[in-house]
Amino acid sequence: MQDKIKLLKELQAIDQDLKNVRQGREALEKEQASLGSETDRIRAMVESLMSELDKLRDERRTLQLALEQEEQNIHRSEGHLPAIKTQKEYVAVLKEIDTAKKLNKDLQDRIQAKDGEIAAVTRDREEKEQELAELTAKVSDRLEEIARQLGECESQVGTQVHDRDSLFDQLPVPLRKRYQLLFERRGGLAVVEARNGTCSGCNMHLPPQLFNTLFTIQEIQSCPHCNRLLYVTALM
Ligand SMILES: [Zn+2]
Repeated sequence: MQDKIKLLKELQAIDQDLKNVRQGREALEKEQASLGSETDRIRAMVESLMSELDKLRDERRTLQLALEQEEQNIHRSEGHLPAIKTQKEYVAVLKEIDTAKKLNKDLQDRIQAKDGEIAAVTRDREEKEQELAELTAKVSDRLEEIARQLGECESQVGTQVHDRDSLFDQLPVPLRKRYQLLFERRGGLAVVEARNGTCSGCNMHLPPQLFNTLFTIQEIQSCPHCNRLLYVTALM
């Protein structure tokens, strides 16, 4: 029985290590995925700002063309003025020029507003590009570090699984099952010391008779409260 307890304690120590390493590995893998999605998110923002900028520039170009067209019209109308014979026709052309100038003023205002929008979006885009560049550098460092740590986890797990299996195989089959089940259901603590008449797994008092039998009986006893496998240090 002492041998079995010794085996179980060693097995449990390795299993606890493995559990920690595996939890660490999961956390690293989660971080790995979230780092990628954060850069993706900012890259998408940069791209959307760039297409918004393209759209604004197109709109500005259209306004600019309209303005140039209108200026040509004014120029042409003004060129006609000296050749006009009647007062009525003269007034009509002046009115036409006046209307075109008002339209021009409106186009110039809209171009100016568009320039303001373009400048604002350009600033946003530059900020996001900067953020993306910084994040990408940071992320690539962190990803490298994560890859290194995952590699370490992998080799650690490999060695420990081997040690663990060779211990596990030395236990009688029914005990393997009891241990395995308890380890999974009792938070990685299947084998515990009974100290001062108490189970150190659940901190409940053990019946005095049971506690006493731990020193004498050859079978491994379970805590009646949490079912964990008990040992007493006096035997070790
Ligand atoms: Zn207990």
